[in-house]
Amino acid sequence: MMGDFFMKLQYLGTAAAEAFPALFCQCETCKRAREKGGKDIRGRSGAVLDDTLMIDFPPDVYLHSLRFGIDLTKIENLIVTHSHMDHFCPVELSTASPDYYAHGMHPIHVFGNGNVGKKLENAMFGEFKKPVDFVPFQRVYGYQPFSVGGYEVTPLPALHGMGDPSEDAFFYLIRKDGKTLLYTHDTGIFFEPVFAYLKANAGHIDLVSLDCTFGKLPDGANHMGIPDNLVVKARLEEQGNVDASTRYIINHFSHNCHSIHEELEEEAAKHGFLVAYDGMTVEI
Ligand SMILES: [Zn+2]
Ligand SMILES: [Zn+2]
Ligand SMILES: [Zn+2]
Repeated sequence: MMGDFFMKLQYLGTAAAEAFPALFCQCETCKRAREKGGKDIRGRSGAVLDDTLMIDFPPDVYLHSLRFGIDLTKIENLIVTHSHMDHFCPVELSTASPDYYAHGMHPIHVFGNGNVGKKLENAMFGEFKKPVDFVPFQRVYGYQPFSVGGYEVTPLPALHGMGDPSEDAFFYLIRKDGKTLLYTHDTGIFFEPVFAYLKANAGHIDLVSLDCTFGKLPDGANHMGIPDNLVVKARLEEQGNVDASTRYIINHFSHNCHSIHEELEEEAAKHGFLVAYDGMTVEI
């Protein structure tokens, strides 16, 4: 236990795949975000728990580490939701090689689905032309909890194939010291078996972080917007996983939501949701 909280969650990036403003986009929303700056500058999604457990390794990790004073040498474990490029940029992990780029660095243990393992291996082979041992990989499976660095982590299947049946995307139920975080993105409204699993196993959830790629708009497919988030919230309430003490944070925004941060906040506030921004820290 540290002070009066048990887990510290820090969002590093809070955008969808194309970043927000998007790299090459000149739409009105991107223009407004560029003008506003601050919380409207969103890198690709990732987060860190207690400065040591990283969730996802997007192409913007280096920039996030500089912008928010993240000491990447403290990262011991990396859990990856899925292999899409906005969540996993394995070639960048080559810089953790103690022989070449990172003197004194310890191994980073990587946990993820089969595609994550394959992409990691290919990236390392591409870079070093031989197998490496500084990013050991462990494949994880849906509904099979594993222990890592004092956390109990359960991968839950996301509704997020994007037409690729091999991409068994996950989101994560994470527990430590009696506190529970449900960290989700890149999923539509959860699969029924996931709701059933949460009902039977999750108990009380303290913080729910939700995909909100489409902001005020509904998606109902591979992602969510606030209308979909409300469906998830109602289901979790109905089955007793959440109550008035549970906090909700919406995350992973696309410029296609047509809203900048303050507009998202205005809408989110009506439902008691907080809007994530890059660098945001919450204590659980
Ligand atoms: Zn994504
Ligand atoms: Zn745009
Ligand atoms: Zn994705």
